[in-house]
Amino acid sequence: MLFNEIIGQEKVKEKLISTVKDGRISHAQIFLGNEGSGNLAIALAYAQYVSCSNRKEKDSCGQCPSCKKYQKLIHPDLHFVFPVVRNKNFKKPVSNDFLKEWREITIENPYFSAKKWHKKIDANNLKPTIYTSESNEIIKKLNLKTFEADYKVMIIWQIETMNVAGANKLLKILEEPPEKTLFLLISENSERILKTILSRTQLIKVPKIEKLDLKKKLKETFDFEKEEIDDIIHLSNGNYQKALELIENKEDNKILLDLFTNLMRFSYSKKIIEITEWVNEIAKIGREKQKQFLDYALRLIRENFILNIAKEEKKLIFLTKEEKIFSERFCTFININNVFAINKEFNLAHFHISSNANNKIVFLDLAIKLMNLLKIK
Ligand SMILES: [Zn+2]
Repeated sequence: MLFNEIIGQEKVKEKLISTVKDGRISHAQIFLGNEGSGNLAIALAYAQYVSCSNRKEKDSCGQCPSCKKYQKLIHPDLHFVFPVVRNKNFKKPVSNDFLKEWREITIENPYFSAKKWHKKIDANNLKPTIYTSESNEIIKKLNLKTFEADYKVMIIWQIETMNVAGANKLLKILEEPPEKTLFLLISENSERILKTILSRTQLIKVPKIEKLDLKKKLKETFDFEKEEIDDIIHLSNGNYQKALELIENKEDNKILLDLFTNLMRFSYSKKIIEITEWVNEIAKIGREKQKQFLDYALRLIRENFILNIAKEEKKLIFLTKEEKIFSERFCTFININNVFAINKEFNLAHFHISSNANNKIVFLDLAIKLMNLLKIK
């Protein structure tokens, strides 16, 4: 990864480059930033820059043997740790068991979300974790001599998923760091990391991507109408991964919005025949899509509530053009007296669908509850 390939984030890049130039490379750094901000991408570009044998003023050369290996993520002094899951092949899994998948997803798009990663490794309903067994792997890797570069680099993605025993072992390593080793920890949530680990690492804050930078990137990559691009920039809120998903799901979103508007209209006017037809329709789309619909509905409920109570605060409202047309009138039905109950019903439906309950019963039940909830003023 070259710095040049990072979307925006000029200040962070400059700061990192200056640490290399001034010889002030801190042995443990944590890149803290929201999903889609590029924290992993930046750490990769930084590691490549540190190891490049023909470093330029503002970037790696991209040509030297080190850079070439870095770009394929196969440099022998570059190590990765990330959350994984147990499955029938790996009873005590460590990151290296999933290295192939890791390289594929990272090379394809280093802005990927945790959700994408979970899908890639077929996590299903399991929670990917950095297990304690990983600590021994880390120590093993650190004991290897550096093969080619000055620095051995250990990138730990989603350090917040490391269990406590593992984190304590890592802490010991950070307290007595091996020479010429660079720990680059990547996290979206510092509250879930041991304070003692945080206190031993240098914090690199990676902010949301600036609107103009994101716009430039999307314009270069996709062919869009001006209005469409503005919608995506606004909705993705500085998250490149989210922008990609919005583009990918454009057609899907139309279907989801239709499902949502129909459910609300039929429930409000208690049209039971239409509701039954609606239930039959949604029963056909499969559980994954049903969950996607429920997530979508939860978002629209939230946005409509905000629209209802703070119509003027345009910055707070995240709706596409089509969603806005529907919401202008619908929002008056989502108020402080029913928003929590409606939210709860959608969450409950989500839970039941995830637990393989009969989907027709779940959705019919939801529609019946909505009949009353939407009437609350
Ligand atoms: Zn190079």
